[in-house]
Amino acid sequence: MDRSQYNASVAEIIMVNPDLMVLRIDTDEAAGKFEAGQYALLGLYGSEKRSANSEPEKFPADPLKLIQRPYSIASARTETRQFEFFISQVKSGQLSSRLFNLNVGDRLHVGNAITGLFRLDEAPDGSDIIMVATGTGIAPYISFLRSHIIERPESKMVVVQGATHQRDLGYYSELTFLADTVPNFFYVPTLTDADEHWDGYRLMIEDLLKQDVLQNEFNISPDPERTHFFVSGKPDMVAHVSEWLEAYGYRRHHPDDPGELYVEEF
Ligand SMILES: Cc1cc2nc3c(=O)[nH]c(=O)nc-3n(C[C@H](O)[C@H](O)[C@H](O)COP(=O)(O)OP(=O)(O)OC[C@H]3O[C@@H](n4cnc5c(N)ncnc54)[C@H](O)[C@@H]3O)c2cc1C
Repeated sequence: MDRSQYNASVAEIIMVNPDLMVLRIDTDEAAGKFEAGQYALLGLYGSEKRSANSEPEKFPADPLKLIQRPYSIASARTETRQFEFFISQVKSGQLSSRLFNLNVGDRLHVGNAITGLFRLDEAPDGSDIIMVATGTGIAPYISFLRSHIIERPESKMVVVQGATHQRDLGYYSELTFLADTVPNFFYVPTLTDADEHWDGYRLMIEDLLKQDVLQNEFNISPDPERTHFFVSGKPDMVAHVSEWLEAYGYRRHHPDDPGELYVEEF
């Protein structure tokens, strides 16, 4: 089997649930610098086995071809050799079903270029930062917080994370710990199908925002002058939240045309 493009090894796998994992890889060579929130390409050849709980591929992979997809880095921006990713399995997908068959020590490809415009350092110092995520959309915020949280003591920083069940809330312990220890950081998890033990919000993210939870709990209103919003995850949620913010005058950010709304769709 051709492994010529493999340049990294699996260091650790943490299964959050059968279709959600934290994947840590060690690269053979130190990677270039990156900014919190950026992504790298991961790759495996089509000849690699798919996971036992995958479903038939929509488009069968060419065994000789390296399948590559982008994944947000969850690590702090100071990392140069070990990179963490938070990955959900698309059961009929080409690459994620193969990533879910990896074991510690297995080899894979990671692209040399780490890139992306979804970066906390694009938001001005002093502005409040709201980070909204569903699913693996939480990964770039973990990088934001691990990299920058102590640098922004003047900003309120809030993670709003939506999921179906509590077991789907990736990084729940890390985010709860941060909220308990960092005075300007707040964590708002919300579940749409919680069991009876859950005493948090039970709302869709869109509804939680529209019901002024941020205003009531943290005195943060949707004001583009003061508050920058990052929105990352499922396309539907990203579209609904963006539409709601645009009604308050938010504009999509681009480095050449700065705005206050940053989006990343997975
Ligand atoms: C900038 C960026 C960052 C990303 N970061 C992450 C990340 O941190 N973690 C992560 O898990 N994913 C992330 N993704 C998504 C990832 O790149 C792949 O698209 C995903 O893993 C599916 O790839 P696949 O080869 O398994 O499926 P494919 O073979 O590409 O797709 C198979 C089928 O599934 C559909 N499909 C594709 N993606 C999804 C999905 N997410 N949910 C449901 N159906 C889907 C496709 O439309 C297609 O019909 C990111 C994407 C982008 C653009």
